[in-house]
Amino acid sequence: MYAPLSDRVGYVPGGTNIGIIRNDPTHVTLIDTGLNDTTARKVLRVVRDELHSEVVAILNTHGHADHFGANAFVRKRTGCEVWAPDIEATVIRHPILQPAFLYGGADPLDTLRSRFLLAEASPVDGIAEIGPQDFFGAAIEVVALPGHSPNHTGVLVDGVFFCADVVFPEAAIEKYRIPYLYGLTDHLASLDAALAIPAGFVVPGHGPHSESIDALVGLNHQAIDRTLAAIANTLQTPSASDRVCTEVFRALDVPALNAQGFFLLKPTINAYLAHLERTGVAVFEVVEQEPLWSLA
Ligand SMILES: [Zn+2]
Repeated sequence: MYAPLSDRVGYVPGGTNIGIIRNDPTHVTLIDTGLNDTTARKVLRVVRDELHSEVVAILNTHGHADHFGANAFVRKRTGCEVWAPDIEATVIRHPILQPAFLYGGADPLDTLRSRFLLAEASPVDGIAEIGPQDFFGAAIEVVALPGHSPNHTGVLVDGVFFCADVVFPEAAIEKYRIPYLYGLTDHLASLDAALAIPAGFVVPGHGPHSESIDALVGLNHQAIDRTLAAIANTLQTPSASDRVCTEVFRALDVPALNAQGFFLLKPTINAYLAHLERTGVAVFEVVEQEPLWSLA
């Protein structure tokens, strides 16, 4: 079902929200495509049956399987172009990089090759640059929001801010306790940048749209602060990073983790540790072959 937010802009709510921008009376751009063929079919039905249009382009916010997993299907059915930010485009072309990143840069465990982490590959026709631009006839602005992924972006059009995963909804924070992150230092700056975007509507990658991002940024900041506090508390005893993970997961009541859940959060904790090292709070050293994190 199409949820209109302005004359030219709306979205299809779902597990991953799919933004829709009207380029001209018979063509639209999709902001992300969702997880798989099922979501692709749903979105194509909305575009064709409700909007009487065809997809001219996909603009991906970042290279996570739940945001580009339906690219290949939509492109096959419509012949549309695919655009994405640099780095993210490489993951979209080579989806094995996502589970490989999560697995510390190595050949990933087979359990990390599920459809939630390993999408079907999609060609990318163009690299989306940051800033205001004409995108297939529509005036849009691509907003840099790095941190959730290396070159994570949002899109601002007609006062509607598609902010992707710079914030997670309250339900996800409550459930998972620690939202996935690639880099905390950049992500904190992106939360500030998101607050400064002049928008009448905010559509996150997951969860309902709202008229302001302020409350969501506050909730996400709280989750970050409690994770930072739990890590600092753990580092009172010098610990290897796996030990830091276990202690922090227990302190924050992270639900029982399977391999997929663990390997999503282990790099997230590494991102926090790198930020703590960068800001002079923590130090990393290898002592007698043991990698140890401790307070500075
Ligand atoms: Zn994501």
